[in-house]
Amino acid sequence: MNRARLLHFNAALGPLDYKVPGDMNVEPGSVVVAPLGPRQIIGIVWEEERLPSDSVPDHKLRALIEVLPVPPLRPELRRLIEWTADYYCARIASVARMVLASGGALRGPSTMIEYRLTGTEPERMTPQRAVALDALQGEQATIRELAEFASVSEGVLRGLVNQGALEPVEVDIDRPYPRPDPDFAQPKLSEDQQDVADRFTEAVEAKKFAPFLLDGVTGSGKTETYFEPLAAALRMDRQVLVLLPEIALTEAFLRRFEDRFGTPPVVWHSSLKSTERRRAWRAIASGEAKVVVGARSALFLPFARLGLLVVDEAHEVSFKQDEGVRYNARDVAVMRGHFEGVPVILASATPALESLQMAESGIYERLELPSRFGGATMPDVSIINLTEEKPERGRWLSPRLVEQLKLRLERGEQSLLFLNRRGYAPLTLCRNCGFRFQCPNCSAWLVEHRLSNRLSCHHCGHETTPPPACPECGELDCLVACGPGVERIADEVAEILPEARVALVTSDTLNSPEKAAAFVRQAEERMIDVIVGTQLVTKGFHFPELTLVGVVDADLGLEGGDLRAAERTYQQMAQVAGRAGRGAKPGEVLIQTRHPDAPVIAALAAGDRDAFYAAETEARRDAGAPPFGRWAAIIVSSEDEAEAREAARAIGGTRPSLPDVMILGPAPAPMSLLRGRYRYRLLINARRSAQVQNIIRDWLGELNFPQGVRVAVDIDPYSF
Ligand code: ADP
Ligand code: ZN
Repeated sequence: MNRARLLHFNAALGPLDYKVPGDMNVEPGSVVVAPLGPRQIIGIVWEEERLPSDSVPDHKLRALIEVLPVPPLRPELRRLIEWTADYYCARIASVARMVLASGGALRGPSTMIEYRLTGTEPERMTPQRAVALDALQGEQATIRELAEFASVSEGVLRGLVNQGALEPVEVDIDRPYPRPDPDFAQPKLSEDQQDVADRFTEAVEAKKFAPFLLDGVTGSGKTETYFEPLAAALRMDRQVLVLLPEIALTEAFLRRFEDRFGTPPVVWHSSLKSTERRRAWRAIASGEAKVVVGARSALFLPFARLGLLVVDEAHEVSFKQDEGVRYNARDVAVMRGHFEGVPVILASATPALESLQMAESGIYERLELPSRFGGATMPDVSIINLTEEKPERGRWLSPRLVEQLKLRLERGEQSLLFLNRRGYAPLTLCRNCGFRFQCPNCSAWLVEHRLSNRLSCHHCGHETTPPPACPECGELDCLVACGPGVERIADEVAEILPEARVALVTSDTLNSPEKAAAFVRQAEERMIDVIVGTQLVTKGFHFPELTLVGVVDADLGLEGGDLRAAERTYQQMAQVAGRAGRGAKPGEVLIQTRHPDAPVIAALAAGDRDAFYAAETEARRDAGAPPFGRWAAIIVSSEDEAEAREAARAIGGTRPSLPDVMILGPAPAPMSLLRGRYRYRLLINARRSAQVQNIIRDWLGELNFPQGVRVAVDIDPYSF
């Protein structure tokens, strides 16, 4: 090969051709360094015929500089990159960047330098140095990471290096990971579990694409069931990827994995240190890393020999990425399985309607675990009608729920209260003039966080300290908190049950794997009586002593711009209910609502999952919604409101008129201001078979917009 076409990451430029020096070996998939003007860029060698570009004559080509010492990206991954770009109307360069950027620095030697404290005090102490010395106890990372961690400049840390207070440590990037042992500790499976596990194992051994829906009630032991095919893949020296929705879940998973396989798996998520990230990326590419558990971005890792893919809690919304390349990791996982020719297991107790429909139509093979492991029973669910059983003034827990909480505390059992709202109160207003605290960058209220004494926006992260007086009328001590957040519920519990040990579980309190692990340990060791938490607690936790679950406000999820509000509410309620009664003692669930007759609530009360899915299926069919029809959204945004509106109008004005394709809008998006950008939205509703992507590409491809305008396409959107 003496010419090479490069896919690089500057999306504005498109593919570029280069000359390959005679002594250089490249093949499709090679990761190379090339000149671009005065700079150097990293790119991936691609098959010319798959990446059209204007041909440049040989003599005009510049030469590639070097090939990076990583295995070439395999064709299976290159096809996945192409498919993802095509399906989600994203630039192929943006998808390729997700694949490589996640590898961190690809260049350079197999060692990196990190720094750690030596214990020596610097000769000259400054306030900044003192801050750094305090913050960096027990830490080891690159200078840049340490600086970020300690919130000091890199210069401060370099000063500490010069003074001998920080020392360099050479880290071997290619040191091997311990190997999981497929036979370390084999559990005895129940008959149901064994049947399912055998079917999976057979599929792994067949080395063919096979999508499965593992549909098992909460507590049925789905994890144990997919650990068996995982062991089978290990015996075949194949790699396995397990996707989990939340890093808070990883710690519990790691321990279970270690109990079964003797060593923890390789972890992949966005907060890894650069040395860890690089080590993992390289070991995954070389095939050394056998089992990887990760967040959705792990889906684009360069596995050398994949044998099995698992998506646990596959219904979770966090598998949907809502910025950059807007993909759904659950669906891309199935495609990756297809390209790699390996089985894919989607596991859930509350599958998405789309997944159930795929099973119904025979595309996915559905395997069921209808009962809990070890004879535990499903909890009893009752409804508390808040319009009749009212909480006391200024309180949120009804008398019946309070009574049950007291009862559990007396019996030494655990309770969980669920409210999907971080902070103390969702709205703060002035009693005197009615002023409301709003985010300057978003169409959203600022949420009061009492623990951190902050008013903060949950969309852009904007924060201020609550002022002593109203910014509008200047009245002192006039601000009142409206409505409950989890912090407020935790306060209420502390007032009602002063002796109870209460744990608050939100992304504010459980913001690192270590904190998540500490929480799980405390809960298991029964150092916690009442857990108060957001959606974080609905997921995957297994606390055998937990016998009461109270849903503070079941109506919350039914508001807002969520296209799957009913399904999401059902899933959340069923998942949080599923935390109760997982041990020997039976569980009870109390759901507070103002709409006891809503189909979702009624189905939950009756424990009738089929009834809910049947009703939801009908509603979706009537609306032409997924899985019966398709949705896509075009979101136009700009920092300038008029510019955004104009651009949206221009798009609306050139809308294609096609049979069976309905185009709604433009209209202000439900979040009409987000992170300082004004947003308009067009919504496309079409038949399943319609080529929505082609329609959108043809439509938008014709248009030009001012610099400041961003046009994003969201295929199969969740919300806006
Ligand atoms: P699910 O994910 O289906 O809600 P889990 O996989 O968390 O359920 O399993 C529930 C509990 O039952 C866990 O504590 C798990 O360790 C235990 N368990 C499941 N299957 C077995 C088994 N075959 N042997 C021993 N313990 C099991
Ligand atoms: Zn904001």
